[in-house]
Amino acid sequence: MRVLFALLLTTQSALAGPIFSFTLGGGITVGDQVYNGFNQAAARWSSVLSDNVTVRLTIGYKSLGSGILGSTTGAFYDVSDSAVKAALAADAKSADDATAISHLQSAGSNSFVINHTNNCANCTTPYLSSGSNFDNTHVAVTGAQARALGLVPANFAASDGEIDFSSNFSFDFDPSNGISSGAFDFVGVATHEIGHLLGFVSTVDDYDFCGHTLNCVSSRSGTALSENEDDPTVLDYFRFSTDSGFGTRMDQSSDNRSKYFSIDGGTTLGPLFSNGTYFGDGRQASHWKDNLGIGIMDPTAAPGELLALTRNDIRALDVIGWDLATPEPGTTGLLGVGLMTVVVRLRRTRRNVL
Ligand SMILES: [Zn+2]
Repeated sequence: MRVLFALLLTTQSALAGPIFSFTLGGGITVGDQVYNGFNQAAARWSSVLSDNVTVRLTIGYKSLGSGILGSTTGAFYDVSDSAVKAALAADAKSADDATAISHLQSAGSNSFVINHTNNCANCTTPYLSSGSNFDNTHVAVTGAQARALGLVPANFAASDGEIDFSSNFSFDFDPSNGISSGAFDFVGVATHEIGHLLGFVSTVDDYDFCGHTLNCVSSRSGTALSENEDDPTVLDYFRFSTDSGFGTRMDQSSDNRSKYFSIDGGTTLGPLFSNGTYFGDGRQASHWKDNLGIGIMDPTAAPGELLALTRNDIRALDVIGWDLATPEPGTTGLLGVGLMTVVVRLRRTRRNVL
């Protein structure tokens, strides 16, 4: 039932990191600007990650619905919490990995605050969930993430997702000289969408959507999602709040309280996440907070805006199971690009949801 956001693919990168194997959907020909744009986006991730895996994606370029810049659908696997934590520990390489793993809750079950479930009659006030529900004992990993964590065989043939861009929008396919006014940064948006498929995603969006529509489980219309029908993502291990009434906690709530990225159990509060389309700030929770220049996983983009990876994006990918191409990210070059993005954002007038 998970629906991700948007994007694409093609062949592979020559760099040492993950290889992206693209199956061409409609509207793309090898060597055209869309194909090359997807490959540039893939090369960005391959340049900052070092996992020796092949990510299999289908990419398309076609007419989508009105106002839809692109759409991404990803493969997800529900894995036991114990298995995910064991895989993270076995895959740990960076200092951030060590910090993150040492602050995870005990293997087997997670407690967190949550709301808008059927268990609490679609309540608004967060409550503490713990014990043996499915969402306490299981974790959702994306197909690509499962490869990085060694949870599927290296030659696992299943697709990891599909990314389609709308051919109805004006795109600038060459970010090297800035992005033309009136056009969207194709390589940047593609990088963003691939980021979702690599695991930058939150289950909070499921509870938010289902609590709002009360119609997302076909056999049980009129109810919110139950705690036995969904589970947190690995990124959600690192989603914290301090003001739920239960102290500093992992937080799966959809509401407008602040949710922070933290790799040390909430002791150090990092960048803010968005917190829900319907019950939160109006943005999907599978993103950084909007318009703060935190990273390429910002939820929106404006025409003329150059979208760049930042240390925050790379750090998040690191702790959710990917390995870094260099011992630590955060070069001054990356930070410089981030600052440039902030300047661009101040001038934006219209933003599109990614
Ligand atoms: Zn997105």
